[in-house]
Order: sequence, then C-alpha cells, then structure tokens
Amino acid sequence: MAEAPDSEPVPSSSKGNLLEDAQDEGPSPKKRKTEGEEIDKLEHRLGGILCCAVCLDLPQAAVYQCSNGHLMCAPCFTHLLADARLRDESASCPNCRIEISKANASRNLAVEKAVSELPSACRHCTGVFPRHSLQHHEDQTCEQRVTGCRYACLGCGWRGAAAAGAAHEAACAHPRQSAADLVELLAARERQAADQLLLHSQLLGLLSYEKITFTDLQLKPYRTEELHKLYYETSRFSAFGQQWLVKAFVNKHQRDPTQSAQREITYQLILKSKPGGAVGVWWMWARGPFGEARMSASLAQHAFREDEAAPARALPLADPADANRLLANKAIHFRLIMFLSPK
Ligand SMILES: [Zn+2]
Ligand SMILES: [Zn+2]
Ligand SMILES: [Zn+2]
Ligand SMILES: [Zn+2]
Repeated sequence: MAEAPDSEPVPSSSKGNLLEDAQDEGPSPKKRKTEGEEIDKLEHRLGGILCCAVCLDLPQAAVYQCSNGHLMCAPCFTHLLADARLRDESASCPNCRIEISKANASRNLAVEKAVSELPSACRHCTGVFPRHSLQHHEDQTCEQRVTGCRYACLGCGWRGAAAAGAAHEAACAHPRQSAADLVELLAARERQAADQLLLHSQLLGLLSYEKITFTDLQLKPYRTEELHKLYYETSRFSAFGQQWLVKAFVNKHQRDPTQSAQREITYQLILKSKPGGAVGVWWMWARGPFGEARMSASLAQHAFREDEAAPARALPLADPADANRLLANKAIHFRLIMFLSPK
C-alpha cells in the first residue's frame, strides 16, 4: 500500500528562503563568506532539523508530529489528512509511515517556539530578524516594502518602496485633478458600495419572508460504484413540507483531486420529492454550531420542480484555503438557511 513518496503532495511555498539556502548549499555552506559564518551555519543546521518533513519549509505557525516525532507544518498535516480521506485510506507519516490522525499526532510547542526565534531575512531589504517579528517588519516598518500612494483613493495607482513614497506624493498629480474628474471617481465608488449593500438588503428582505427554516447538516463521504469517485452527501432532510438533500464534489471536473493542490468544493441542493408545482427557494450558508469554516455571505435561488437538482455552485467558503481543513474531517458540518419564495 505504501507507495514511494513521489506521489505525496508537496505544497509549494515561496517562504522559507532560509531553508532553501540550507538545502542548496548541502553540507558545505561556503556561499556566504561573512563574519557571521559560525552563526550562519548553526541556524542553517537548525533549519534543516526543524523543517516540515513534507514541504521542507520552516513552519509558519503550528507544528505537528507523528508518534515517532517527525515534524509537519499545520498546512501539510491537514493536507495529508485531507488527501487520505479523498483516497479512502488512513493518513501516514511521510517519514516513517506510521498512521497519523488528529487523535494520535500532537503539537510540538518547543519546535514552534524555536522556529519563531530563528533569524530570517527580510524579503525586501537586507535586514535579518527573528521570525516572530519578521512579519511586522516586512508589513509595517521596512523602508523597502512596497506601498501605495496616499492618493490611491483619488485613483493614483503608484506602487513603490516606502522610502520613495514621500517624494512621489509631493509630485503626485492626482490631488490636482479637476472637480469634474473627482465627481466621476466618486460615482464609480458609490456604484461599488451599492453592489455590496444590495446583498445585505436582499438578505434583510428574505428575513421578512413567512417561511424560513434552517437545518444543521453533515456532508459525509461516499464512493460511486463504478469509478470509485468520491462525493459527499447529506441525509435527507425536510423543509417546507418537501424532502431535500445536498450533494457535494471536490474538484468536480477532475478524476483524482489528490493530483492538484487546489481544492474547490462544489455542491448541489436537490429536491427529492414531488411538489404540486414549482417550489421557489432562496438559500444561504452559515458556519453553524459544529462547522469548522466560515462561510461568506452569498445568496442563491432556484425554482425546483420534482426531483430536481439546482445547478452546481461553489461552496462559499470565506477563505478558500479552508477546503483542506474541511476535507480532513470525517464529515463537513454546516448550516443551511432556506427561505420559501411567496407564491
Ligand atoms: Zn509543510
Ligand atoms: Zn513519522
Ligand atoms: Zn526589510
Ligand atoms: Zn500618487
């Protein structure tokens, strides 16, 4: 069962330059001939020890370990669990093949803290900082970080190093636009805000409908008989006197979703009974009391006839990166809120 690890997912990452250096240099780190060579070597050696066994990067946040102590960063850990569920197998440590699960893997706080103290180079300037303060430096204080012009709200698209910002702003033409240009700009912004408001007022309108229902559902994994293709389904539930269920797919148009790092969950709401006429329904998703991911506000609508499935839509995850976190679980929990359109 255990194949060579070349089929293991190796999520790419642009971070962890420190470690890439360590990998490239191999056993003789002679690239940097600076005074700090001794320290340099130590941090590279530590980087090689504390890196994730899957992506070989230094972990950014939580670090998990198998029961033999092999380290995995949190995204790789959930990715392994999700892949195993998609393949209908149990997940195993890429180093020692021992089974890993949420129950038998543990965090390693000492490694998390040690990694956060390792020196790391700023991606904009030549400065070196402990990893725990690197983000703050790169985002807030680095002179070389890329910023925009303060007149961006007037349409200036300038981007450049923070150190050059003041000189640009002094010469920027945007604050000297004519009133007519500014009126045009304000109108465009108002249109944008109106689109956002529309969703909220639609939702408020739906909340005034006479028939509203919500159901806390679990999507559970199943396999098709012939192709052994994975899909998810809820049990049937009733709403507005009809029977419904939700079916979901991972990367619907791909035969084997474990081949790609991108995961998209699409779903269909399906009417399983025979109403007298069409049943017009609006619906939206919420995390619900057992859910593991935030949903973004979005409304869907369909007029169902008997035994009909609404067209497939993407599950509106607030953060698409949550797909793996959901797939790593035995079931996907969420709340479906439905509104019956008045006749
Ligand atoms: Zn990793
Ligand atoms: Zn292991
Ligand atoms: Zn910097
Ligand atoms: Zn400007």
